[in-house]
Amino acid sequence: MTSPGYQGISYWLETVGEPLTPRPELKGDITVDVAILGGGYSGLWTAYYLLRDNPGLEVAIIEAEICGWGASGRNGGWCSSRYPLHPYALEARYGAEVARQTIQAMYETVDEVGRVCAEEGIEAEFRMNGILSLARGEAQMSAVRSAHAAYERLGFGEGNILLGEEEARARVNVVGIKGALYSPRSGAVHPAKLVRGLARAVERKGAAIYEQTRVQRIVTGRDAGLETTGGRVRARRAVVAAGEAYLPKVRGFERALVPMSSSIVLTAPLTEAQWAEIGWQGGEGLGSQAHTVDYLTRTTDGRILYGSRGAPYLYGSATEGADEVFAKTSAEMREQLCGWFPILREVGFTHAWHGFLGVARDWNPTVAFDPEIRLGTLHGYTGRGVSTTNMAARLLSSQILGRETPLARLPLADRSPKWEPEPFRWLGIRYVQDAMRRMDVARDAGKPQPLDAPLAHWLGDQ
Ligand SMILES: Cc1cc2nc3c(=O)[nH]c(=O)nc-3n(C[C@H](O)[C@H](O)[C@H](O)COP(=O)(O)OP(=O)(O)OC[C@H]3O[C@@H](n4cnc5c(N)ncnc54)[C@H](O)[C@@H]3O)c2cc1C
Repeated sequence: MTSPGYQGISYWLETVGEPLTPRPELKGDITVDVAILGGGYSGLWTAYYLLRDNPGLEVAIIEAEICGWGASGRNGGWCSSRYPLHPYALEARYGAEVARQTIQAMYETVDEVGRVCAEEGIEAEFRMNGILSLARGEAQMSAVRSAHAAYERLGFGEGNILLGEEEARARVNVVGIKGALYSPRSGAVHPAKLVRGLARAVERKGAAIYEQTRVQRIVTGRDAGLETTGGRVRARRAVVAAGEAYLPKVRGFERALVPMSSSIVLTAPLTEAQWAEIGWQGGEGLGSQAHTVDYLTRTTDGRILYGSRGAPYLYGSATEGADEVFAKTSAEMREQLCGWFPILREVGFTHAWHGFLGVARDWNPTVAFDPEIRLGTLHGYTGRGVSTTNMAARLLSSQILGRETPLARLPLADRSPKWEPEPFRWLGIRYVQDAMRRMDVARDAGKPQPLDAPLAHWLGDQ
């Protein structure tokens, strides 16, 4: 069977080095121990740890397209040690000790991703190149300083180093750079090579993966399983919902999280001379303090990837119907990136794509297993899932296997509240998104923050 244009989804799937021929669909009813919806990092890491710790288990993964079709094959490639919640939010909500344990667990998670890649021969270009969280303009410096202060207070000051303007510029020559927080213990990967390599690793451990098979309904309780376009998958022990941004389309998960789009543009490879002008020899993940979020990656073939928010939230948690917005967003982003590095005007851009990530109501991921109804779920990584999915899967697989783990004491094990029903959800999210944009515009122009900034922050933090 030929693949229906999966290479065209992202530069990562284009350069993954395999034809992306779909695996066979499910044809008929089957019975397994654990049935997993979703062939992204969440579903695959869960299968990986279930089978590592219990090799006899029968595990089936049901994927609507191909493994890596979702955010796992489209992301910015940061295998970040930053938890989705900021350190001061962690401290305020859970106390200093839990905040410390969470940050430490994230460091160990990045190491674990690198370790498994090496052990399983997954050539995912894993590299420990750190993060530079930049201040672009003096007005962004206070956010950098307060992040640094939070890490120091929690005892992680040594791994999160405050750089002044000269030190920061020596690392990367960004227009308007005033300083940075440098966090060396963070990694980067080729996202699609990770997800596709992981799929092969779980197959070697005995999992069955059915692609181009859509789950229509998740059944819980005594008859737990997945009703799919290819047949019924009965699950003796657990059924796992690992569909992230696409989960709200499944009955029962409509308000569990919301899909938010993120867009990416990619340059052509830069020449040696162009790199000499930019610096950035360490290849750290770069981001500024913009409320509207930005992330930059230096690819291993010498390109610059720039990601930012995509289309505004779509009514009813839709994930289709914004193509015109994406085209406009990509054009604006190319312009924005040239503002970071003016030399890129002579380099040119080769790729643009977008994807959807899952946002939890309280910005904290949910990992939960209810043995009564045999339902496991892991979702809501808010754009930090390349690493966090690994930690979430280690927790969920332990819960399913009934094993103790210190991860169960971390915020990850909390359930996020549901999002509001429509139209309140759309009204609230659109308002906060617009306010964040206005705050960035005012800060970049050196103007006072909009009068409603405290309200928008308060709503955004709720
Ligand atoms: C543009 C973009 C940039 C990002 N950048 C970063 C980054 O740099 N660093 C970082 O840490 N995180 C980043 N993220 C987030 C990160 O990619 C995600 O958190 C992570 O990939 C989530 O993995 P997942 O397996 O939970 O979800 P996904 O990878 O989205 O996988 C879900 C899978 O479930 C399948 N599915 C859904 N519904 C059904 C159904 N009904 N039946 C069968 N299958 C179904 C989908 O086809 C999909 O393959 C980014 C996300 C995007 C979109």
